[in-house]
Amino acid sequence: MKSVDISSLVRQNIRILKPYSSARDEFQGPASVYLDANENPNNTAYNRYPDPHQVHLKKRIAQLKKVQPEQIFLGNGSDEPIDLIIRAFCEPNRDNVVIPMPTYGMYSISASINAIAVKAVNLTSDFDIDLNAVEDAWDKNTKLLFMCSPNNPSGNLLSADKIKHLLETFKGVIILDEAYIDFIEGDGFLPLLGTHSNLVVLQTLSKAWGLAGIRLGMCFSNPEIIRLLNTIKPPYNISGLSQSVALACLENENKKNEWVREIKKQRQILNDHLTRVPQVEKVYPSDANFLLVKVKNAHRTYHDLVTRGIIVRDRSNVILCENCLRITVGTEQENKQLVDALRQL
Ligand SMILES: *Cc1c(COP(=O)(O)O)cnc(C)c1O
Repeated sequence: MKSVDISSLVRQNIRILKPYSSARDEFQGPASVYLDANENPNNTAYNRYPDPHQVHLKKRIAQLKKVQPEQIFLGNGSDEPIDLIIRAFCEPNRDNVVIPMPTYGMYSISASINAIAVKAVNLTSDFDIDLNAVEDAWDKNTKLLFMCSPNNPSGNLLSADKIKHLLETFKGVIILDEAYIDFIEGDGFLPLLGTHSNLVVLQTLSKAWGLAGIRLGMCFSNPEIIRLLNTIKPPYNISGLSQSVALACLENENKKNEWVREIKKQRQILNDHLTRVPQVEKVYPSDANFLLVKVKNAHRTYHDLVTRGIIVRDRSNVILCENCLRITVGTEQENKQLVDALRQL
């Protein structure tokens, strides 16, 4: 059991903030005449403001993820909770965050936008947490520690024991990004929410669920942190369209599981083919829906693929990823096109 005093970590101005109260906050429930929100009364299916608390959607996600609705915050993609968490906890030009690199770029971009210093520490050469480096990096102004597992762009899971160790020793809030959770076995870190008040888990509908276009990020934490995010979010941050599409698609968990099985199968096949391509020096093991691939000359390979209409992600400028491309696992046909093109280069 790890209890961190969350309110003592929150920025002073946020702690005393009185949140905006929207029309749909002040009256909830069925009525026959709504004249409270300056909407157009003519039914277009979308003339009414959406539910600012996404009650139905959270109920469904709570069932799926085996958590309580009070432990869920929904954002316009994962990028919104990343930004809101930084703004809730970090005092500009004073506080800092620790980020093991290489990882997803938005943590440090969001920190920089908010004038929060980033203490970057390297992952180990096999892209796992370097405990000493992380514990050396944080100081009394470190509010947040970001980790991504499976990690982007390396594709591997971080050591669960090291994450657990940091959950015990870190005095701030840990944001664990599990965007690729559906591609691993097991429940990830959601089961630890009840015992670790300083844990925030991010997941998304953008990857396995096939809903990148609706922008729906899921943030799980203890009810205190969730309430805090709710007080500072834009009132109607999840559109009515996104809420209804998400609700409909979440009914079809079997479809998602089928896609995941197929993508993992294709990942293995793609891995096997890539390792036999002469320019490929190494394919890193992946627990996600992409492969990090070291080639002889990433920059040239990237551009050669572009001229053949195939776009991958050049990660060669990223630390520890020299000459690496990040390649999403596509359909069988798309992967074959990629491998054929690489063979012809
Ligand atoms: C793709 C990805 C996300 C998803 O972001 P959304 O804004 O929810 O689409 C989050 N974190 C990581 C590490 C990712 O790779």
